[in-house]
Amino acid sequence: MNIILLGAPGAGKGTQSKNLSERLKIPQISTGDILRANVRSKTQLGQKAKEYMDKGVLVPDELVVNMVADRIKDADCATGFILDGFPRNIPQAKSIETTLDGMNKKIDGVIGIVVDRKELLRRLSGRRVCKKCGASYHVIFNTPINIGMCDKCGSEIYQREDDSEETVEARLKVYEQETAPLIDYYTNRDLYRAIDGIGGVDQITNAIIEAIDKGNNNT
Ligand code: AMP
Repeated sequence: MNIILLGAPGAGKGTQSKNLSERLKIPQISTGDILRANVRSKTQLGQKAKEYMDKGVLVPDELVVNMVADRIKDADCATGFILDGFPRNIPQAKSIETTLDGMNKKIDGVIGIVVDRKELLRRLSGRRVCKKCGASYHVIFNTPINIGMCDKCGSEIYQREDDSEETVEARLKVYEQETAPLIDYYTNRDLYRAIDGIGGVDQITNAIIEAIDKGNNNT
Protein backbone atom coordinates (compact mmCIF):
# COMPACT_ATOMS: atom_id res chain seq x y z
CA MET A 1 0.00 0.00 0.00
CA ASN A 2 1.64 3.23 -1.18
CA ILE A 3 0.08 6.27 0.44
CA ILE A 4 0.60 10.02 0.27
CA LEU A 5 -0.37 12.30 3.15
CA LEU A 6 -1.15 15.83 2.02
CA GLY A 7 -1.84 18.82 4.22
CA ALA A 8 -0.62 22.26 5.23
CA PRO A 9 2.24 22.66 7.71
CA GLY A 10 0.78 21.89 11.14
CA ALA A 11 -2.06 19.72 9.82
CA GLY A 12 -0.61 16.68 11.59
CA LYS A 13 1.00 14.79 8.69
CA GLY A 14 4.01 13.77 10.77
CA THR A 15 1.99 12.57 13.76
CA GLN A 16 -0.47 10.69 11.57
CA SER A 17 2.27 9.15 9.42
CA LYS A 18 3.96 7.78 12.51
CA ASN A 19 0.69 6.28 13.74
CA LEU A 20 -0.13 4.84 10.33
CA SER A 21 3.36 3.44 9.99
CA GLU A 22 2.89 1.49 13.24
CA ARG A 23 -0.62 0.35 12.40
CA LEU A 24 -0.03 -0.59 8.76
CA LYS A 25 3.57 -1.81 9.30
CA ILE A 26 5.00 0.21 6.43
CA PRO A 27 7.66 2.93 6.74
CA GLN A 28 7.06 6.67 6.96
CA ILE A 29 9.13 8.66 4.51
CA SER A 30 9.26 12.26 5.66
CA THR A 31 11.23 14.46 3.29
CA GLY A 32 11.35 17.18 5.97
CA ASP A 33 12.88 14.75 8.51
CA ILE A 34 15.42 13.45 5.97
CA LEU A 35 16.39 16.99 4.99
CA ARG A 36 16.72 18.09 8.64
CA ALA A 37 18.94 15.07 9.37
CA ASN A 38 21.13 16.12 6.42
CA VAL A 39 21.28 19.70 7.70
CA ARG A 40 22.32 18.47 11.15
CA SER A 41 25.07 16.25 9.82
CA LYS A 42 26.15 18.97 7.36
CA THR A 43 26.08 16.79 4.27
CA GLN A 44 26.33 18.47 0.87
CA LEU A 45 22.57 18.03 0.44
CA GLY A 46 21.95 19.50 3.90
CA GLN A 47 24.13 22.52 3.19
CA LYS A 48 22.28 23.21 -0.04
CA ALA A 49 18.82 22.60 1.44
CA LYS A 50 19.29 24.73 4.57
CA GLU A 51 19.01 28.14 2.91
CA TYR A 52 15.63 27.21 1.42
CA MET A 53 14.32 25.57 4.57
CA ASP A 54 15.27 28.58 6.71
CA LYS A 55 13.18 30.79 4.43
CA GLY A 56 10.23 28.39 4.48
CA VAL A 57 10.32 27.79 0.74
CA LEU A 58 10.63 24.52 -1.14
CA VAL A 59 14.03 22.95 -1.65
CA PRO A 60 14.63 22.58 -5.43
CA ASP A 61 12.91 19.54 -6.90
CA GLU A 62 16.11 17.94 -8.19
CA LEU A 63 17.42 17.66 -4.62
CA VAL A 64 14.35 15.93 -3.18
CA VAL A 65 13.14 13.86 -6.10
CA ASN A 66 16.20 11.61 -6.22
CA MET A 67 16.28 11.37 -2.46
CA VAL A 68 12.73 9.93 -2.46
CA ALA A 69 13.31 7.73 -5.53
CA ASP A 70 16.30 6.13 -3.78
CA ARG A 71 14.43 5.68 -0.51
CA ILE A 72 11.43 3.87 -1.99
CA LYS A 73 13.75 1.33 -3.56
CA ASP A 74 14.89 0.21 -0.10
CA ALA A 75 13.79 -3.28 0.95
CA ASP A 76 11.54 -2.04 3.78
CA CYS A 77 9.35 -0.25 1.20
CA ALA A 78 8.60 -3.46 -0.71
CA THR A 79 5.12 -3.82 0.79
CA GLY A 80 4.36 -0.12 0.91
CA PHE A 81 5.24 3.29 2.31
CA ILE A 82 3.73 6.52 3.56
CA LEU A 83 5.00 9.69 1.92
CA ASP A 84 4.87 12.57 4.39
CA GLY A 85 5.65 15.99 2.90
CA PHE A 86 6.22 14.71 -0.61
CA PRO A 87 5.13 15.53 -3.27
CA ARG A 88 4.89 19.27 -2.59
CA ASN A 89 4.12 20.36 -6.16
CA ILE A 90 2.93 18.90 -9.47
CA PRO A 91 6.40 18.25 -10.97
CA GLN A 92 7.27 16.18 -7.87
CA ALA A 93 3.99 14.25 -8.22
CA LYS A 94 4.84 13.45 -11.83
CA SER A 95 8.34 12.37 -10.95
CA ILE A 96 7.20 9.90 -8.28
CA GLU A 97 4.69 8.49 -10.75
CA THR A 98 7.46 7.86 -13.29
CA THR A 99 9.68 6.25 -10.66
CA LEU A 100 6.85 4.00 -9.49
CA ASP A 101 5.91 3.12 -13.07
CA GLY A 102 9.43 1.88 -13.60
CA MET A 103 9.03 -0.37 -10.56
CA ASN A 104 5.58 -1.61 -11.64
CA LYS A 105 4.02 0.15 -8.69
CA LYS A 106 1.60 3.01 -8.16
CA ILE A 107 0.17 5.36 -5.57
CA ASP A 108 -2.86 3.66 -3.98
CA GLY A 109 -4.33 6.59 -2.12
CA VAL A 110 -3.81 10.24 -1.22
CA ILE A 111 -5.17 11.47 2.09
CA GLY A 112 -5.58 15.19 2.68
CA ILE A 113 -5.64 16.26 6.32
CA VAL A 114 -7.78 19.37 6.48
CA VAL A 115 -7.25 21.99 9.21
CA ASP A 116 -8.25 25.67 9.10
CA ARG A 117 -5.64 28.43 9.09
CA LYS A 118 -6.38 29.70 12.62
CA GLU A 119 -5.80 26.23 14.07
CA LEU A 120 -2.65 25.72 11.97
CA LEU A 121 -1.17 28.94 13.38
CA ARG A 122 -2.11 27.95 16.93
CA ARG A 123 -0.46 24.56 16.52
CA LEU A 124 2.70 25.76 14.77
CA SER A 125 3.40 28.65 17.13
CA GLY A 126 3.60 26.28 20.13
CA ARG A 127 5.00 23.22 18.40
CA ARG A 128 8.03 21.43 19.79
CA VAL A 129 9.53 18.36 18.15
CA CYS A 130 11.93 15.62 19.16
CA LYS A 131 15.40 16.02 17.62
CA LYS A 132 15.76 12.29 17.23
CA CYS A 133 12.41 10.63 16.43
CA GLY A 134 10.48 13.70 15.24
CA ALA A 135 7.58 13.18 17.70
CA SER A 136 5.54 16.35 17.98
CA TYR A 137 4.43 18.21 21.14
CA HIS A 138 2.79 21.53 21.96
CA VAL A 139 3.75 23.89 24.78
CA ILE A 140 0.15 24.14 25.99
CA PHE A 141 -1.96 21.40 24.42
CA ASN A 142 0.39 18.43 24.39
CA THR A 143 3.28 18.79 26.81
CA PRO A 144 5.77 15.93 27.36
CA ILE A 145 5.81 14.22 30.76
CA ASN A 146 9.34 15.50 31.47
CA ILE A 147 9.92 19.07 30.33
CA GLY A 148 12.15 19.29 27.25
CA MET A 149 12.33 15.52 26.83
CA CYS A 150 10.59 13.24 24.35
CA ASP A 151 8.11 10.77 25.92
CA LYS A 152 8.83 8.24 23.20
CA CYS A 153 12.64 8.14 22.98
CA GLY A 154 13.91 10.40 25.78
CA SER A 155 15.78 12.74 23.41
CA GLU A 156 15.75 16.51 23.54
CA ILE A 157 12.76 18.37 22.13
CA TYR A 158 13.17 21.77 20.46
CA GLN A 159 11.40 24.42 18.44
CA ARG A 160 12.08 24.07 14.72
CA GLU A 161 13.69 27.21 13.34
CA ASP A 162 11.11 27.34 10.57
CA ASP A 163 8.25 27.39 13.12
CA SER A 164 9.01 31.08 13.81
CA GLU A 165 6.10 33.41 13.05
CA GLU A 166 7.37 34.93 9.81
CA THR A 167 8.63 31.63 8.36
CA VAL A 168 5.29 29.98 9.16
CA GLU A 169 3.53 32.64 7.06
CA ALA A 170 5.88 31.91 4.15
CA ARG A 171 5.32 28.15 4.48
CA LEU A 172 1.54 28.52 4.50
CA LYS A 173 1.75 30.67 1.36
CA VAL A 174 3.97 28.09 -0.36
CA TYR A 175 1.46 25.42 0.60
CA GLU A 176 -1.46 27.37 -0.92
CA GLN A 177 0.39 28.23 -4.12
CA GLU A 178 2.41 25.10 -4.85
CA THR A 179 1.05 22.17 -2.85
CA ALA A 180 -2.72 22.74 -2.70
CA PRO A 181 -3.07 22.27 -6.51
CA LEU A 182 -2.23 18.61 -5.84
CA ILE A 183 -5.72 18.22 -4.37
CA ASP A 184 -7.25 18.68 -7.84
CA TYR A 185 -4.47 16.67 -9.42
CA TYR A 186 -5.23 13.61 -7.28
CA THR A 187 -9.00 14.17 -7.24
CA ASN A 188 -8.91 13.92 -11.04
CA ARG A 189 -7.14 10.59 -10.67
CA ASP A 190 -9.75 9.46 -8.13
CA LEU A 191 -7.09 9.00 -5.47
CA TYR A 192 -7.83 11.90 -3.12
CA ARG A 193 -9.78 11.60 0.15
CA ALA A 194 -10.13 14.52 2.58
CA ILE A 195 -10.10 13.87 6.32
CA ASP A 196 -10.99 16.35 9.06
CA GLY A 197 -7.72 17.01 10.90
CA ILE A 198 -9.37 18.37 14.04
CA GLY A 199 -10.03 15.84 16.77
CA GLY A 200 -8.21 13.18 18.74
CA VAL A 201 -5.04 11.78 17.14
CA ASP A 202 -6.26 8.16 17.19
CA GLN A 203 -9.71 9.13 15.98
CA ILE A 204 -8.11 10.82 12.95
CA THR A 205 -5.85 7.80 12.32
CA ASN A 206 -8.94 5.57 12.32
CA ALA A 207 -10.67 7.87 9.85
CA ILE A 208 -7.62 7.76 7.56
CA ILE A 209 -7.44 3.96 7.68
CA GLU A 210 -11.15 3.75 6.91
CA ALA A 211 -10.71 6.08 3.92
CA ILE A 212 -7.77 4.02 2.64
CA ASP A 213 -9.75 0.77 3.00
CA LYS A 214 -12.73 2.27 1.23
CA GLY A 215 -10.54 3.50 -1.64
CA ASN A 216 -9.00 0.04 -1.95
CA ASN A 217 -12.33 -1.72 -2.07
CA ASN A 218 -13.43 0.59 -4.88
CA THR A 219 -10.45 -0.19 -7.12
P1 AMP B 1 8.29 19.72 6.63
O1 AMP B 1 9.00 19.09 7.78
O2 AMP B 1 7.59 18.74 5.75
O3 AMP B 1 7.40 20.88 7.06
O4 AMP B 1 9.42 20.37 5.70
C1 AMP B 1 10.29 21.38 6.19
C2 AMP B 1 10.96 22.08 5.02
O5 AMP B 1 11.73 21.13 4.27
C3 AMP B 1 10.02 22.70 4.00
O6 AMP B 1 9.58 24.00 4.36
C4 AMP B 1 10.89 22.72 2.75
O7 AMP B 1 11.83 23.78 2.79
C5 AMP B 1 11.65 21.41 2.88
N1 AMP B 1 10.92 20.28 2.23
C6 AMP B 1 10.36 19.20 2.81
N2 AMP B 1 9.81 18.38 1.90
C7 AMP B 1 10.01 18.97 0.71
C8 AMP B 1 9.67 18.64 -0.63
N3 AMP B 1 8.97 17.53 -0.92
N4 AMP B 1 10.06 19.49 -1.62
C9 AMP B 1 10.75 20.61 -1.36
N5 AMP B 1 11.10 20.99 -0.12
C10 AMP B 1 10.73 20.19 0.91
